[in-house]
Amino acid sequence: MAKTKYVYAFGAGVAEGDGTMKDLLGGKGAGLAEMTKIGLPVPAGFTITTEVCDLYYKSGKKWPAGLDAEVDRQLKTLEKIAGKKLGDSKDPLLVSVRSGAAVSMPGMMETILNLGLNDASVEGLAAKTGNRRFALDAYRRFIMMYGSTAMGIEREEFDHAFGELKDNVTRIRTKAAANVKINDTDVDADELAQLIETFKAIYRKHIKAEFPQDPRVQLKGAIDAVFGSWMADKAVTYRKVEKIANIKGTAVNIVQMVFGNMGDTSGTGVCFTRDPNSGDNIFYGDYLINAQGEDVVAGIRTPIKLSDFEKKDKKAYKQLLDVRKKLEDHYKDMQDLEFTVEEGKLYMLQCRTGKRSPGAAFKIAVDLVKEKLITKEQAIMRIKATDIEGIFYPMIDKSQTKILKDSFLVQGIDAVPGAAVGQVAFDAKTAEAWAADGKKVILVRKETSPEDVGGMHAAQGILTATGGKTSHAAVVARGWGKSCIVGCEKLDIDYVKRQFSVGSTIVKEGAFLTLDGSAGNVYLGELTLVKPELPAAYLTLMGWADKIRTLKVRTNADTPYDAENAVRLGAEGIGLCRTEHMFFDSEERILAIREMIIADDVETRKKALAKLLPFQTKDFEGIFKAMDGKPVTIRLIDPPLHEFVPHDEAGQRALAAAVGVSYEHVAQRVEQLHEANPMLGHRGCRLTITYPEILDMQVTAIISAACNMAKKGVKVAPEIMIPLVIDAKELKILEVRTRSVADAIIAKSGVKLPYMVGTMIEVPRAALLADKIAGVAEFFSFGTNDLTQMTLGMSRDDAGKFLPEYVDEKKAGIFKADPFQSLDQEGVGMLVKMGIEKGRSTRPHLKVGICGEHGGEAKSVKFCHKVGMDYVSCSPYRVPIARLAAAQAVIEEAKCCCSCKKPAAKTGKRK
Ligand code: ADP
Ligand code: MG
Ligand code: MG
Repeated sequence: MAKTKYVYAFGAGVAEGDGTMKDLLGGKGAGLAEMTKIGLPVPAGFTITTEVCDLYYKSGKKWPAGLDAEVDRQLKTLEKIAGKKLGDSKDPLLVSVRSGAAVSMPGMMETILNLGLNDASVEGLAAKTGNRRFALDAYRRFIMMYGSTAMGIEREEFDHAFGELKDNVTRIRTKAAANVKINDTDVDADELAQLIETFKAIYRKHIKAEFPQDPRVQLKGAIDAVFGSWMADKAVTYRKVEKIANIKGTAVNIVQMVFGNMGDTSGTGVCFTRDPNSGDNIFYGDYLINAQGEDVVAGIRTPIKLSDFEKKDKKAYKQLLDVRKKLEDHYKDMQDLEFTVEEGKLYMLQCRTGKRSPGAAFKIAVDLVKEKLITKEQAIMRIKATDIEGIFYPMIDKSQTKILKDSFLVQGIDAVPGAAVGQVAFDAKTAEAWAADGKKVILVRKETSPEDVGGMHAAQGILTATGGKTSHAAVVARGWGKSCIVGCEKLDIDYVKRQFSVGSTIVKEGAFLTLDGSAGNVYLGELTLVKPELPAAYLTLMGWADKIRTLKVRTNADTPYDAENAVRLGAEGIGLCRTEHMFFDSEERILAIREMIIADDVETRKKALAKLLPFQTKDFEGIFKAMDGKPVTIRLIDPPLHEFVPHDEAGQRALAAAVGVSYEHVAQRVEQLHEANPMLGHRGCRLTITYPEILDMQVTAIISAACNMAKKGVKVAPEIMIPLVIDAKELKILEVRTRSVADAIIAKSGVKLPYMVGTMIEVPRAALLADKIAGVAEFFSFGTNDLTQMTLGMSRDDAGKFLPEYVDEKKAGIFKADPFQSLDQEGVGMLVKMGIEKGRSTRPHLKVGICGEHGGEAKSVKFCHKVGMDYVSCSPYRVPIARLAAAQAVIEEAKCCCSCKKPAAKTGKRK
């Protein structure tokens, strides 16, 4: 058996790995290898694979045999390239030891910088660089990072000691006034030397040993620390929240140090090749002079913008601009970069595909097509369902100008657009608890850290007092499209008193705030939010998607208003109009339907139905008009009748009085309607089998409305749908009755009106007998809510109690996703596929659609395309998601066929 390769080197223009090897090398390792390969200035180093992390945990936190030797060998190579030796007392090589999994987990795992320093080599570094302050600065950072990350000492303790030194020593030496902030750069070499002794004492106190001087011991400890960070609570939580599963572990990158803390011609920064909020083609980021790595993100000093960096150091900036262009041309996407400038020379330390706001996702994808970097198909594949959801995020209603002016509190940095309203909570736990109670929460923190992700996720919006646009809060919130304002420095937060103040205004925990993440404005109280205008790039890209897809997208709508809204969102028809919702529209209607239900005989029932007829006719006219020739599928009455009647005595007495019958009569009828298991009871077409006069009324309403509109010149295409069918004969009885009512009206009205009669396939028996049923039905609509519930034998109203266990990978893990949200393709999907095939075996042109929740869920939509459906139908706001997924399905199908060389899977598509 070939020996497994544990370590991959990069440096001096060559790399053993490359950008495609994310799973094995982690995103960071793959990015470093790829950047090295395309000739960018990357310090040399090597990557220990994610497989090693996996082995490490499988063998009880031990290094696999042979890793030691391989690390040794790679270190020698690195020393050769660098021309320096680790721990050398004259000219030491220093390295960073960095985590990096296949999926980016910002700030979740550990990195240790300046490894290789000890009491001797720090002097070597000082002498070699002629910069003692710098060498000591690097050493104090190393002791702190190693002490906290590898050895588990509270970081706070180091921070506190540093703070005391600044206040008690540096402040006095520099004669700074009490209210002037002392920055870490103000601390001089002697003071740093003093700090190092303090840090070592802290280390000694906790670890009961001296700070390790042997670089090999340091290296081993740091590598273990990175492995350890993979299973740290915060990292595990993050993976759970982000639904990151099936990745092996973190890789470990050992990289030669370059120094941004060597003085004013050095510095470090993070940037995006385009604006991650607007998507505009503008270079975007932060740079901090004379600083090292984590300083920028931690918000220790306020960084400068890239435009100011250009003014400060034109030459270094120019190098960065070149890299920006090279990387975008190479990756053909917006990149998120980390870099360091050491005495005027640029080094790249990280690149990855940048997280972006939903609006920016569209803008960037469309721009890249215009710039001819990617194709339209590639652009479509880059958009996620969540990007579409994000586009519809609320904004503050700008028309409330006076309120806006009066309730304005303070402005911070606009980190993530979109508005949010909620109650102030000062910690993640409170935010989570309140959200679980159904409250809307705004999480307010000095800054956020990876421990806070649970609370950040639960909150509507996030507000922090420190940090810039690339701070932890901003990056995490952006990924979720969640309103976020950072760096709001006027905010004075008192965690103990559970309040914050801005000037003289005090805001207590629990008070309402409104955030406008797009402007960075914070308002007191609950402001009105509105839906935003759709960005132009969204419309362009969705237009491309519409041209590519073959699956039609309809909507579920019961009112003309919903119908019109859905058409604006791209619906091409109504796939499900639930007639019973119309019964609840007014007191009169409810009364009429109730009168019908409590009727004892056909004649009384008919009289009550006659009252409903004009209402239903008008409703359908409105819907036909709104859809203007687009197909409209109308389902006949579906729910069990007990859902329509009052269950309390007062309600029943009122009904009795209104209808003019005795209370006892009403109570008795309601009692009769009671069912042990109503979802499997007297509902759907069973109702029209027993009470055909209901069908008569509904069909009369539909067809009269259609004829009336047709006479007015509106094109109409009604499709009458009979629910819950289990047998061809059952459907035949209802179909014959439907047609006899419809044809009589049409004949009388004298218009030519084509219409269809079809059924829902939502009981397993109907799917099994689909060939027979298709002998009668002109179309099928899969009602996958009921079909899932009946195939699984799980009531969707009760499954919430045990289903999570079925979905949780760490528990039973029986389903990959909630089968009521994402179609169970294996089981229920089998019935769907079979139903379509059987149906089309007797009726080749059978029209087929879906109208369950699944019709708007991306994976299920792709499945519907694959099995040859003609359309999906979903709620209005899911229509764009379905349009996109339908286009992606076509692209994925084509892609599969060129790479695997198999012919396109033949789908049973009609036509
Ligand atoms: P994260 O995954 O949290 O971003 P990184 O491993 O990227 O952690 O390290 C954080 C920062 O530390 C980097 O952005 C960079 O500024 C600094 N850093 C890491 N390695 C080096 C190195 N070899 N030389 C200089 N700075 C480094
Ligand atoms: Mg990084
Ligand atoms: Mg149903």
